[in-house]
Amino acid sequence: MNKYVQNVLESLERKNAHEAEFLQAAEEILSSLDKVISMHPEYEQQSLLERFVEPERVIQFRVPWVDDSGKLRVNRAFRVQFNGAIGPYKGGMRFHPSVNLSTLKFLAMEQTLKNALTGIAMGGGKGGADFDPHGKSEGEVMRFCQSLMTELYRHIGANIDVPAGDIGVGAREIGFMFGQYKRIVGEYSGVLTGKGLSYGGCLGRKEATGYGLCYFTEAMLNHAGDSLKGKRVVLSGSGNVALYAAQKAKELGATPVAMSDSQGFVVDENGIDIELMKDIKENRRERISAYAHEKGLSYHEGSQGIWEVPCDVALPCATQNELPLNGAKALVKNGVKAVAEGANMPSTKDAVHYLKQNNVLFAPAKAANAGGVSVSGLEMGQNAQFVAFTQKEVDAKLHAIMENIFATVSKAASLYGSSPTDYAAGANAAGFLKVADAMLAQGCV
Ligand code: NDP
Repeated sequence: MNKYVQNVLESLERKNAHEAEFLQAAEEILSSLDKVISMHPEYEQQSLLERFVEPERVIQFRVPWVDDSGKLRVNRAFRVQFNGAIGPYKGGMRFHPSVNLSTLKFLAMEQTLKNALTGIAMGGGKGGADFDPHGKSEGEVMRFCQSLMTELYRHIGANIDVPAGDIGVGAREIGFMFGQYKRIVGEYSGVLTGKGLSYGGCLGRKEATGYGLCYFTEAMLNHAGDSLKGKRVVLSGSGNVALYAAQKAKELGATPVAMSDSQGFVVDENGIDIELMKDIKENRRERISAYAHEKGLSYHEGSQGIWEVPCDVALPCATQNELPLNGAKALVKNGVKAVAEGANMPSTKDAVHYLKQNNVLFAPAKAANAGGVSVSGLEMGQNAQFVAFTQKEVDAKLHAIMENIFATVSKAASLYGSSPTDYAAGANAAGFLKVADAMLAQGCV
């Protein structure tokens, strides 16, 4: 590894010893930048890497709220404004008990490079709270969102920082947060994306990450002389990303055969009934076991076994580090051809290494799941101009953006990767170069 990169990583480890996810992401990104750093000595002279790995700002605050029994509860929330070199900070809010600063810093750093790949002027940020919306009443979720926004509002704005959804934050939570922002600030602006269609949302945003994942996967397979048509697809998760990836995979001629949630998974050899799965997850908010029950299928406890299900294409769409080495081994044993990441950093480092060693096409999250934030960028543009695109227009733009991201990543892989299909290194290099050059141009920032 390049000496400069190594020094920066060692210093980062000393300063952030307890932040495992952040260090994992930093190592993954920086260790793939050897060629970029060698070709740009000015980056070291200007301490570019030291600046890149340090968030511009981290905001931490308490969120007090009252539950239905009248008890006052307190959660911890954060907003990480990681890098604003190429535009306003942009990235989702995550509500999940596992949320901590390490996870949000890793997500915000990834988001910075992802947003750079989209070609839209957006910096990188991420936020969230250790609040679990599961099992909470509508009123409790609303009071939590309102209390969170009562602090967050002073740190965000349409040209400052534009949060969106992520795990545990869908249209309902965005609506509650937007309402509270508007009430406090007294201004109607595009301060959040993922809004409802009746108040500034963008047609196609809900579908964008999952659809975009399939467009990227199709472009990657096409480049290798193949396609999604006729492929068996396994998807982990059954949330926003997984549902719409399954839908688009089916439209492109593939058969999604298995999906999961955090408690278990189902296999449907006839192809997942997407409408039923959407009803269970989006409307009824039930466990995936309900799908097995209603279809008369077996339900498998535990989410990890899903990687044992034979498939041609695997789309991990649930959460970080959900595809470990033994999962990758099971996929390879069963002849998987491609793995494309819908979730952020779902594959562990050794899993990625094993997949590459076995010539599996691998699409890294920051490129493959960039469709969501791309359409969020379109939503920001719509709000700023008081216009609205049709669903067809959004889908065409999304398709073009994902194909363009694949072309950019593929070109960068040839220049900076260990092989022309090292798309992980390609995505890191292309995203980093754009951000680094903007930082250099702006002086000591
Ligand atoms: P959702 O909250 O809609 O869905 C998450 C899904 O993952 C649920 O089915 C959840 O199950 C499951 N899950 C959570 N933890 C685990 C676990 N440990 N093992 C197995 N399954 C688990 O989130 P999204 O679909 O929005 O996000 C999924 C991933 O995609 C995240 O990594 C997110 O950062 C990333 N992403 C999302 C984008 C978006 O536009 N939504 C954009 C880009 C990336 P359960 O209901 O049981 O908790």
